[in-house]
Amino acid sequence: MTLHEEFNFEELPAGTKQTYRMTVNFPEAPDLVDLVTMISGDRSQRESVQSEIDSVFQEGTLSVPVLAVCGSRPGKTLVTTAGIHGDEYEGMEAIHRTFEALDPSSMSGTFVAVPVVTLPAYWMACRVNPLDGRNMARVFPGSTDGCASERLAARLLDRVMRHASLYIDLHSAGRGSHWVTMCGFCDHGSQAETARSAARCFGAPVIWEHPHDPEATGRTLNATCDLEIPSIYTEAFGGGHARAEDIDCYTRGLANLLRFLEIAELPAAGLPEPYEPVEVRGMGNTDRGLNASTSGLAWLLIKPGDRIRAGQKIGYLRDLEGRIIEEILSPQDAFVIGVRATPRVFAGDNLAILS
Ligand SMILES: [Zn+2]
Repeated sequence: MTLHEEFNFEELPAGTKQTYRMTVNFPEAPDLVDLVTMISGDRSQRESVQSEIDSVFQEGTLSVPVLAVCGSRPGKTLVTTAGIHGDEYEGMEAIHRTFEALDPSSMSGTFVAVPVVTLPAYWMACRVNPLDGRNMARVFPGSTDGCASERLAARLLDRVMRHASLYIDLHSAGRGSHWVTMCGFCDHGSQAETARSAARCFGAPVIWEHPHDPEATGRTLNATCDLEIPSIYTEAFGGGHARAEDIDCYTRGLANLLRFLEIAELPAAGLPEPYEPVEVRGMGNTDRGLNASTSGLAWLLIKPGDRIRAGQKIGYLRDLEGRIIEEILSPQDAFVIGVRATPRVFAGDNLAILS
């Protein structure tokens, strides 16, 4: 990766489209080469893995790419992030396509995007940050003298996220599960009204509204909502790859938000005709979803978007000898937001997200 100038929002020159870097202090250079090589599956790749990691960890810092398009005229700022979890690719491509399509000379305002936040997790094609085993979506607002994930979160919030007129965090189900393609927001605080309008404007097939949950902390949206920045997020089918329709939905969604903020008009903008999203309301705390009570092989009989009844059999767990050790029953009438994709479960692993 080429090393670029440090990103500084206050000094972005008008009428420019440029790639920057956001540096984070990592005096203890991590030794990830063997782990990443093992995941990529071939010892012969060790040298290319080493060179990619070395290009990003230099002189005690990690350099994360930041893409910025600063319009010729002043206006609002759309900030977006992807790759908070390393195995969620839809937002990365949607950001790259949007950056490619934008022309600063016809813009009023600014687009700032971090396409791959948690680089070490991206290299490992996994959800959590392998530098410290932490989930980046549970460490915000972070801390400048905390663990690796907390330092990355604090830097991202300070250098990038806090400058948003509107913030959108592009997630998806990642490697381990499948979700409906949706846009979510929190219905509390001064940001709620704009966030609701923005979520609708994004144009996803499902909109999920969350009431305040004091136990759901550490998300990017907790930090931006605390700063009263209207904030939304997305999820998609995932599964460790990215469906073309989800990349299209995210790309169209970003174009719709740029129009919503009167920053830019892109050809990708527009809503599906007719646009009649499924609207659901619920806590959305995936840490308290339907979890496996024991370890084994889990087979789910439902798919994202299903409507299910309380007591309905929605799956079963087998042990390694083939015995059925648990019938999984729905605890409630629900709309199925997400379903586990990886059959191997340990006790406590999430099996499904129900609204
Ligand atoms: Zn995620």
